[in-house]
Amino acid sequence: MLTLDSKIESLIRLRNDTKNALVKLKLNTIEDLLYHYPTRYADSSTFLSIKNLKEGDHATIRGTIKKIESKKSWKTKVPLSTAIVEDVSGSISVTWFNQPYLAKMISVGQTVELTGKITKNKDSLTLVNPSTKEEKVLPIDSHDSLFAGDSQGVLTPLYPESKGVSSEWFSHTINRALSEIKEIPDHIPESILKQYSLPGLKTALVWIHNPKKPEDALKARKRFAFDEIFKINTAKGQEKLRIQKEKAYNINTEDLDVEDFTKRFPFPLTKAQEKSIDQILSDLNKEAPMSRLLEGDVGSGKTAVAATAVYATVMNRPGTSEKKQTFGSLQVAYMAPTEILATQHFESFIEYFRHTGISIALITGSGCRKFPTKVASSQTPWTTISKAQLQKWIANGEIPIVIGTHALIQKSLSFKHLALAIIDEQHRFGLNQRKSIAKKDSHFPHLLSMTATPIPRTLALTIYGDLDLSLLDEMPVGRKQVINEIVLPNKREETYEKIRNLLEEGRQVYIICPRINEPDPDKEKAIVAKSVMEEAKRLQKDVFPKYKVGTLHSKMTKTEKEEAMEDFYSHKTDILVATSVVEVGVNVPNATVIIIEGAERFGLAQLHQLRGRVMRSSHQSYCYLFADAKSDKTKERMSVFIKAKNGFELAEYDLQIRGTGELSGLKQWGISDIGMEALRNIKLVEAAQKSAKDLINNDPELSKYPILKEVIKKYDQIHFE
Ligand code: ADP
Ligand code: MG
Repeated sequence: MLTLDSKIESLIRLRNDTKNALVKLKLNTIEDLLYHYPTRYADSSTFLSIKNLKEGDHATIRGTIKKIESKKSWKTKVPLSTAIVEDVSGSISVTWFNQPYLAKMISVGQTVELTGKITKNKDSLTLVNPSTKEEKVLPIDSHDSLFAGDSQGVLTPLYPESKGVSSEWFSHTINRALSEIKEIPDHIPESILKQYSLPGLKTALVWIHNPKKPEDALKARKRFAFDEIFKINTAKGQEKLRIQKEKAYNINTEDLDVEDFTKRFPFPLTKAQEKSIDQILSDLNKEAPMSRLLEGDVGSGKTAVAATAVYATVMNRPGTSEKKQTFGSLQVAYMAPTEILATQHFESFIEYFRHTGISIALITGSGCRKFPTKVASSQTPWTTISKAQLQKWIANGEIPIVIGTHALIQKSLSFKHLALAIIDEQHRFGLNQRKSIAKKDSHFPHLLSMTATPIPRTLALTIYGDLDLSLLDEMPVGRKQVINEIVLPNKREETYEKIRNLLEEGRQVYIICPRINEPDPDKEKAIVAKSVMEEAKRLQKDVFPKYKVGTLHSKMTKTEKEEAMEDFYSHKTDILVATSVVEVGVNVPNATVIIIEGAERFGLAQLHQLRGRVMRSSHQSYCYLFADAKSDKTKERMSVFIKAKNGFELAEYDLQIRGTGELSGLKQWGISDIGMEALRNIKLVEAAQKSAKDLINNDPELSKYPILKEVIKKYDQIHFE
């Protein structure tokens, strides 16, 4: 019998090229096929087949770009773009006069919709100067654009174009599956469907693939958007409940003189830091483990907040709230994403904790250190020790504060009284790593995650559904503002001259390029983008011959990356040419200039994070956006960027204006396109979240909802970081 889990072959015979195409699309079972949604619907009368085009037609066609280039017409020297566009029936050449940039904006493989006049050139037909629409995944709330024409006729679903399988094939096969599979049990409880007037699963599947009218397709898309956010929230909610059942060390923060610690910082805390500290201390005082995310822009002072939480923890003795030991301290593990960051934290913590006499250790791939040192002649307040020795001291509870990289979560390392785990830049750690650091002890540690990745509120509600949120939405006073400037191509040399002056004064410079290497033939758009390797060569040779240029990009090994950063940190290099990998938390106060090449290609939130690299100095800092700011849209985005003061604002703007696909690194969160579109709709997200919460509170194990329970299992394995 045919079920959702049956292979597609069991439904229909597959030609070899279809088979290959399906493998590429990762469509394996009938269920996969049913969840492969159309991106649009066409009134079947709207598009003409390329095969049927005649000279003089004014036609709209839809097809895939096979080839595209810009050139000059050889007679008149008019710049133009030419392309070959293909649909299932045939192909035709297309010419756009005076629009050479089109060839850079549209790439091979992309599906486009073209409307224009068919002319005859010698023997072949050409589509001349058509209006051009790129096919995108369409938002659930921009209803008009989902439907071509005014939809009076039959609605034909159009699937994401792929070689070897046509939209017709999908439509045919999916309809057959829907008619053969009678029962598709719905995982969303009936009452929730009713409350939000959402169609049931089977109906929604029929409607999304084969709508009789536009409203049906929209209702179906809404259901699937809700569906996804609801499932994630249910999974996260379950996880949260499970964690809350665990027992954590009770940390008495009420009788503690926290001010005695915070007054030693060389600055007064901001209101936002104080509030976050209060929230954390109150969590630590509970029996249930804290699960809190501290979110704040680069430079907002997360480390001071974390240090205060560490202080509260290590000033407490192990034991239960009724019976505490009279000796020893609770322990803290503080994990940072890179060796440099871990080392920086180690050094700051020595300053913060010197007066307490508490021991601090550093553990990274390249060795271990311990503070304080008993060696009188030592140049540093710490000594290098063997890993074996350190492991012993951590295991017997002698070292309360342990700072490190991934090395912290090795199996060989175990704590005696781990009460608090802090994870810096938590989006770089997977769920499993978080769990593995948590499982080192009989007690479940309190968890404080920290991130500077600005994400929109709807996304935060979804992917961080299991965490409580503290926000540092205020920057320390007295910071010098970064001077931002958009640099047009004709001002490039002038800007380099300014930068040479700053280098002369001893400052350092980041130069960010959108690409690593030579242009990748799959991504023709990238041809114009500067690559790190080439640009580094050029800068060293022609622009900054007197200074040392280093490179950093994601294809380097972890060690190579750390070396490149270390060279820059210790000022062995003056200029670091890098891809956006540099965006995560490193602090090089002497680097006061950042140039971003091809700035228009980055999301605003990402640009903001890059700018954050130079916000940490007492020197004046500069952010130069080298942009091709011709279009109004680019100009507007750049001016929003210059005005905005925090990353969250920019993330919201990105989400609304550019669409979810443009938010940096969103794919890694494992949310589908339709789910991502839901994130533009705060009401829908809140509704899905509330439904999930109510359900979980009434039935934590989902015993009344076995289908949902089964479906949710899949989400347990997804890493949302
Ligand atoms: P991030 O949130 O990016 O981790 P850090 O904790 O590294 O930020 O802090 C950035 C810099 O700001 C550090 O040099 C820190 O000493 C300083 N700082 C932190 N809090 C304050 C404050 N309230 N006032 C002034 N400077 C502060
Ligand atoms: Mg930090």
